[in-house]
Amino acid sequence: GCNICVKKCPFEAISILNVPDNFSKEVIHRYGKNGFELFGLPILKEGQVIGIIGKNGAGKTTIMKIISGEIIPNFGQVERQIGVDEVLQRFKGKEMYTYFSKLYNKNLKIVHKIQYIEYVSRLLKGNVSDILRKVDERGKLDEVKELLYMETMWNKDVSTLSGGELQKLLIAAALAKEANVYAIDEPSSYLDIRERINAAKAIKELTKNKYVIIVDHDLIVLDFITDYVSIVYGESGVYGKVSKVYSTRTGINNFLNGYLPAENTRISDYKIQFYIKDITDLDLLKNSIEKIKWSEITKRLSDFSLQVQQGSAREGEIIGIVGPNGIGKTTFIRILVGEIEPDTGHISPGGLTLSYKPQRIVPDYDGTVREYLETVSKDVLSTSSWFYTEVTRKLKLHKLLDNQVKSLSGGELQKLLIAGTLAKEAHVYLLDEPSSYLDVEERYIVAKAIKRITRERKSVTFLVDHDLAIHDYVADRVITFSGTPGKQGYATQPLSLQKGINVFLKDIGLTFRRDAETGRPRANKIGSYLDRVQRERNEYYSTE
Ligand code: ADP
Ligand code: ADP
Ligand code: MG
Repeated sequence: GCNICVKKCPFEAISILNVPDNFSKEVIHRYGKNGFELFGLPILKEGQVIGIIGKNGAGKTTIMKIISGEIIPNFGQVERQIGVDEVLQRFKGKEMYTYFSKLYNKNLKIVHKIQYIEYVSRLLKGNVSDILRKVDERGKLDEVKELLYMETMWNKDVSTLSGGELQKLLIAAALAKEANVYAIDEPSSYLDIRERINAAKAIKELTKNKYVIIVDHDLIVLDFITDYVSIVYGESGVYGKVSKVYSTRTGINNFLNGYLPAENTRISDYKIQFYIKDITDLDLLKNSIEKIKWSEITKRLSDFSLQVQQGSAREGEIIGIVGPNGIGKTTFIRILVGEIEPDTGHISPGGLTLSYKPQRIVPDYDGTVREYLETVSKDVLSTSSWFYTEVTRKLKLHKLLDNQVKSLSGGELQKLLIAGTLAKEAHVYLLDEPSSYLDVEERYIVAKAIKRITRERKSVTFLVDHDLAIHDYVADRVITFSGTPGKQGYATQPLSLQKGINVFLKDIGLTFRRDAETGRPRANKIGSYLDRVQRERNEYYSTE
């Protein structure tokens, strides 16, 4: 078993299968009488990294649990307990048989990194290095530590870790264990872009010749790390179907196009398109009324010092902010709205109000979703308001109104807190990593809501996010933070999207190309032909 948590969890056996065509039409698992149904399972192969992409509530985590033996599939039979012998009986003559037979006979070992890491943090005790030494079955801790940039957190107590550090600890623990199957659920939440790409590299490097299955919503990460993808589609909370296996590029494009050619199935009624916009639809010449303006700013907070170039933001403008964690992003915004006095520099006008969603989301509200939203604004819940139509309903919060905030899933809580933050009238909005735990569709709904509200209220929104695709979609301009986290931060003035992301990628040493079909950004492998050409041209974020 796993000995990193106090709680006992199964780190058991597995190998995998080929799901026959007709099999995918059968129900694999159902929760309760009228509960969610899962159809089909992805096909894993030794030595291949399989990605799972799809909407929330479509059964991705359920798949991970079945694969890791934590859930025994019931084939829709909810009235009685199904034993493993019966499961094997069902799979007899099918390729599934070998897989489940190995799984239930504990001939293979599996490691499962769970999705919502907040819930683990309470179960972990001790400091990072001690915890990792306990699970070091491969003698590869040094490699893991280096690949995941864990030097500065190595001797910290788990109770003091930031979200990103906790995520890295759990990924490191999974990779330190010797297993046949590595099932990694949403590794990118809370990690900054460099950490994501590094975690992806670490996973790839340390799971060679194993069975690997990864769920993630960051298309850049999934693209970088996986060989094949399966798309999970259906209706959130009702049913989920697992698609055939596609090569990664084709699979992600199919997902964005909302259509699966091999099974001739439409999976959504819209397409997600990326386009390169160096000029935003906010006409910077016409809409030139400045909402806020700042001179060069400096600020020291004990060991940390921040330096910001002078700049301004216009009414209705969305400023994307990119940079690592602990580099001074929040400090900067708090200076802008007067919550922190700068050492040098001034902001005009003063007295602007702020509505803020922090990075790490904690369900510490006692009461229902309805009660929570009522505390924020009286008319948010009035069904005739556009906020209700455009935000509450689109984020499907209207179905959760009577649920306790404490019972929400990570994605549901994220959506609630975003809605609450946007419902408040404010001059300045700061949304810190709204995309974590949201699926791709929800990210675009949120991005659209941010845009509408910012434009309509003539506010300014600072959007901190590690999903570059989101900035690409919604940011009018970008501020890039660089330096040494916890020590020194430098912020640029607002730059055009193209230029800002270019500065950022150059700083972290990565180049991105564009997918020819969908325009989505794709990370180049370091040292590849395109990587070298783009570096030479100083084109870290390609427009082509
Ligand atoms: P995803 O990981 O794709 O977001 P999950 O596999 O976590 O989806 O959940 C799929 C659906 O099954 C959700 O609607 C969820 O509410 C439901 N579900 C998950 N676990 C349980 C459970 N233990 N009992 C009943 N329903 C569940
Ligand atoms: P980011 O938003 O980029 O993650 P923050 O602005 O929250 O970064 O923090 C930047 C650095 O300043 C961090 O190292 C943080 O620990 C430190 N810091 C933030 N607020 C204070 C404070 N009030 N006193 C001392 N240090 C602080
Ligand atoms: Mg999940």
